[in-house]
Amino acid sequence: MITAIGYLITAVLFILGIMYLRSPATARLGNILSAIGMAVAIIATLLSGSIQRWDLIIIGFVLGAIIGYVAAMRVAMTAMPQMVAIFNGMGGGAAALVAINEILKDLEIGNLTNMAALGTGLLTVLIGSFSFAGSALAFAKLQEIIHGRPITFPLQKPLNAAIFLGLVALAVWAVLTQSVTVGVLTLFTVVSLLLGLLVVLPIGGADMPVVISLLNAMTGLAAATTGFLLLNNVLIVAGALVGASGTILTLLMSRAMNRSVSNILFGAFGKLQVAEGAADIDKTVRSTSPEDVAALLKYAEKVIIVPGFGMAVARAQREVQELAQKLTENGVDVRFAIHPVAGRMPGHMNVLLAEANVPYDQLYPMEAINNEFASTDVALVIGANDVTNPAARLDPSSPIYGMPILNVDQAKQVVVLKRSMNPGFAGIENMLYYNPKTLMLFGDARESVQKVLRTLDEV
Ligand code: NDP
Repeated sequence: MITAIGYLITAVLFILGIMYLRSPATARLGNILSAIGMAVAIIATLLSGSIQRWDLIIIGFVLGAIIGYVAAMRVAMTAMPQMVAIFNGMGGGAAALVAINEILKDLEIGNLTNMAALGTGLLTVLIGSFSFAGSALAFAKLQEIIHGRPITFPLQKPLNAAIFLGLVALAVWAVLTQSVTVGVLTLFTVVSLLLGLLVVLPIGGADMPVVISLLNAMTGLAAATTGFLLLNNVLIVAGALVGASGTILTLLMSRAMNRSVSNILFGAFGKLQVAEGAADIDKTVRSTSPEDVAALLKYAEKVIIVPGFGMAVARAQREVQELAQKLTENGVDVRFAIHPVAGRMPGHMNVLLAEANVPYDQLYPMEAINNEFASTDVALVIGANDVTNPAARLDPSSPIYGMPILNVDQAKQVVVLKRSMNPGFAGIENMLYYNPKTLMLFGDARESVQKVLRTLDEV
């Protein structure tokens, strides 16, 4: 009874947590509520009377808490996607191990007649192992332990499809004939792991957050099926919530990039590519100095700051906040334009700017600010590239054609802070940089903003 009530409280806290996570202003509360929900679930399970080995539980608890705490305290904001990947993979791996254990237990007592339990067990092994291996490879790519670009080879898609169908056939055969042995289970697990690796292999660096979100949804599904296997309600609820939110996030991200999930999974995006339209334009680049940028900003009435992945790399958010504050104090109308996929994970810019104490009411989502650029004196682009590329609107041959972008090119003057003329994640040239209205301030974004700040008082 106590356990059931505890699980109910957990379910309510998880749902409230997700609700509060929807806005940056309440996200902290959402996180705290979800963490309390998790603690209630753990305590309720420990009190359920089914624990046989407290020593193992305590060792696991202490080790997990230490590793989780140290990892969370040390992780840099730019490394957040790989941290999410590895934590997610652990969830998938744990679900698979629980399912393997359940099947082995049934095997030991010769009780494989429950087809539903065996089928659910094998499904959990498949999804959990897939998610574990895929997440581990995603981690390795994002951490640059291995090369981050898509790795492709001939007949890759048919091979993956054949492996998947083979696994399904093996599972159906094993369930129908009740012929699971340790050998069959080992083969099934190893091939599921292999499939996870093979599916993530052709996916490029910055598409990884979408894949992680998809793998996250799969881990949720694996947790839910584990819940069915163990007849544990809270696992079913929590797994379903993770599965549903992961799926919604995956769809939202793909929509913001104007790409389908299958294009992300199978398109090998992120390989270097050249848009044909970019070849015809006048490629004069106008570079500028911190002093000139300071003067432009000081005498502007309205400035829109466009942050991107480069701001995260340079860790420039505090300097950017200082700049915005100084300009606001001087009477300039300063706003931040946030593209839904700026950076390398959903909400990346919101989190960084919130951490630097930029007021939430200065942050505008793309739809709310796109019409404002035309009446803006200076659009200040800080380490953003693809999300500002007008080719998405103007060049049908561009790989990002159709992706919604921030209409930076409509501002009266554009200033871009980046280190070189190198392309962004999509690997294509940005036509914005050749626009006569655009001035490039080359250098590390943090150093550049620091220089602008220093000269702002002098001009
Ligand atoms: P981009 O990757 O397009 O561009 C980032 C730019 O930052 C680069 O051109 C780079 O230029 C510059 N940069 C890097 N380091 C520094 C530094 N230290 N100082 C100054 N500039 C720096 O980033 P965007 O944010 O514009 O776009 C995000 C891209 O990621 C989109 O293509 C999006 O589709 C993709 N994506 C985003 C996801 C998300 O969830 N947010 C998920 C999946 C993909 P240089 O090297 O010259 O300095």
